[in-house]
Amino acid sequence: MKVSFYGVRGCIPSPGAEFNRYGGNTMCVTVEGEAGELLVLDAGTGVIELGKRLMAGAFGRGEGEASLFLTHAHWDHIQGFPFFVPVYVPGNHIQVFGPNSSPQMLESILEGQMNPHFMPIQSLGNLGANIELRSLMADEGVSVGALKVCAHSVPHGTMESLALKIEEGDTRVVFVPDAGYEADALEPSLRSFYQGADLLIHDTTYTSEDRATRISRGYASAEIAASVAAQCGVRCLVPIHYDQDYTDEQVDALVERCREVLDSSPGGASVDLVAAKESLVLDVPQK
Ligand SMILES: [Zn+2]
Repeated sequence: MKVSFYGVRGCIPSPGAEFNRYGGNTMCVTVEGEAGELLVLDAGTGVIELGKRLMAGAFGRGEGEASLFLTHAHWDHIQGFPFFVPVYVPGNHIQVFGPNSSPQMLESILEGQMNPHFMPIQSLGNLGANIELRSLMADEGVSVGALKVCAHSVPHGTMESLALKIEEGDTRVVFVPDAGYEADALEPSLRSFYQGADLLIHDTTYTSEDRATRISRGYASAEIAASVAAQCGVRCLVPIHYDQDYTDEQVDALVERCREVLDSSPGGASVDLVAAKESLVLDVPQK
């Protein structure tokens, strides 16, 4: 699998020179399978640049196929969708999976985003591509070519988000951009969901000090991300979803904090650490 990062910020975009090294776009990561299957994980503003790049290939000819998985519908996970150019090209087929019990609920959220008060598009029906809305319940799995995608609910403030696990053969990538739990109270089922992942792309919004003052927002700290990675024996932790106000230097310090906690946690010293940033591409080879 090839994992590419297009947006790594939480909440709102962070334009400005002091954010450029990690990038200021909100959440969007792609996973490509060995046979070319394309999964898009969340549609924050990072998906806009992805869309432009895809237009150079099959999506520009109306022959593209992608599966978009939305972990939840907070702005930073859907705000790029109306600006994802491939949705306007007839012939493209885009499956959109959302964390609801029915596709009608996902449709009402995405239709709401197209409401004329927010967008001139008016309705999903005005997008040219074939957009297929599908629900993705926690504990359910779907297949996209040779890739298997499973979901597990995670607490996120007053609501829930999804953790997504993508498997190809024995290779596993887990994506959990928003996680409001405590590291010492990880549900056993979530622990086994993360266990042994090759990549754990995990919410690292705050330092523990900042998180303590904003606990109701439902995000994780560097300390939580590192502790969870060590507990679950993952091969590599990829911190992501940095607070929009943290400059590049502050994110550097956040990532250093992850390394310190990993090194002082049982089993953590052997966990690799690669910070998410725009344009980063990670190859996750088949075992
Ligand atoms: Zn978020």
